[in-house]
Amino acid sequence: MECTQEGCGSEATFELHIPWTDNRVVCAAHARVEGEKDGIVADPLDDADDEFPEGAANR
Ligand SMILES: [Zn+2]
Repeated sequence: MECTQEGCGSEATFELHIPWTDNRVVCAAHARVEGEKDGIVADPLDDADDEFPEGAANR
């Protein structure tokens, strides 16, 4: 998944939770910038953890 910021092709590693629009995924650098804005929360993506094949979820 790529960063959704215009002109940025970096790997997206964060999800931005934006109260007034849809969530977006961005790279770490943009997450830092956007996360400074009022109301926006940057959450690290942990797809790898959530999408393990069955069996790996037994913790
Ligand atoms: Zn970016």
